[in-house]
Amino acid sequence: MARIDVNHIRHSYLPNPVKDADFALREVHHTFEDGGAYALLGPSGCGKTTLLNIISGLLHPSHGQLLFDGRDVTDLSTQERNIAQVFQFPVIYDTMTVYDNLAFPLRNRGVAEADVDRKVRETLAMIDLADWAKRKARGLTADQKQKISLGRGLVRSDVNAILFDEPLTVIDPHMKWVLRSQLKQLHRRFGYTMIYVTHDQTEALTFADRVVVMYDGQIVQIGTPAELFERPSHTFVGYFIGSPGMNVLPVTISGDTANLVSIKGPQAIRLPGVPKWKKVGIKELGIRPEYIRVGTEGMPVQVRKVEDLGRHQVLRALLGGTEIAAIIPEGGEIPAEPKVTFDPAGINLYEDSWRIEMGA
Ligand code: ADP
Ligand code: MG
Repeated sequence: MARIDVNHIRHSYLPNPVKDADFALREVHHTFEDGGAYALLGPSGCGKTTLLNIISGLLHPSHGQLLFDGRDVTDLSTQERNIAQVFQFPVIYDTMTVYDNLAFPLRNRGVAEADVDRKVRETLAMIDLADWAKRKARGLTADQKQKISLGRGLVRSDVNAILFDEPLTVIDPHMKWVLRSQLKQLHRRFGYTMIYVTHDQTEALTFADRVVVMYDGQIVQIGTPAELFERPSHTFVGYFIGSPGMNVLPVTISGDTANLVSIKGPQAIRLPGVPKWKKVGIKELGIRPEYIRVGTEGMPVQVRKVEDLGRHQVLRALLGGTEIAAIIPEGGEIPAEPKVTFDPAGINLYEDSWRIEMGA
């Protein structure tokens, strides 16, 4: 396994890229530590597959360098990089048996047949296809084929990293959960460097120790699930992670108080500190629905809708002209004339979409 340095990588699919928008990856600079379990999370089209293919060598980046354990591999082929990659859709040999599909990558590398047999059986058990070993891959269902694909990625133990590109898309929900837990166990047991691409926050947060959030060809935050939740460094991370996502409200600020632009008249919101603005940009306050307290004090809201999610309720309401979401914990009640306050511990401030630190 290896440490992977992605050094100032930019990539455009156009022959003569000029502006930022011409780049599928605007600039990515990041180290994937040896043995880390990473999720690469972001919406469709943000550049996840592009980055993964650059790491595996299927794509040569327009700019920048890729290092494995400090060694420049930018110009090496996929094979020379010794990476296992599992794609969104099955890549298997239809005419081979399930067993041989898994044995192939090992035999190809000259692994002794006894070791091949041991590894293949172990992997077959993991993907729950032991009973299908002698069957030809042709004729199997889409999710069985995808499990073979996954197995082909996991069968080798000598790789520098295992890359997964939304590998569970075609797998049914229960099996998804099983396979994800197995990948996690495998990581704990063998310490593989794993990069797992997904657009599904639950998948990312359960699989990874570190989640790399991408948006519009850039990494916008790298953090633990708790960091992404408590301190989203970009408003996009706030929206994208959490259910419902973070409320983002335009504000004006003086010292350590904020005023919502959507409400007329004074309604000072106390901030946890004095913001350290960097420039003269658009200022927004971010607060997750979990940190909005609903009661009989604070700023009046108009109820639009209440969603009952079993363990808690989500209140959708108008605060001034802006719709907000607030979580009402189990047993909580919504008064006849509800008002809201913001828990200072849950307030983040943004300038031109990027989080700003606050001083004491
Ligand atoms: P993701 O995997 O996050 O959905 P991709 O890396 O596939 O995103 O795509 C990033 C951007 O690059 C998108 O705008 C996409 O349309 C574009 N793109 C991807 N592959 C190609 C290609 N082969 N040729 C041209 N544009 C591409
Ligand atoms: Mg993709």
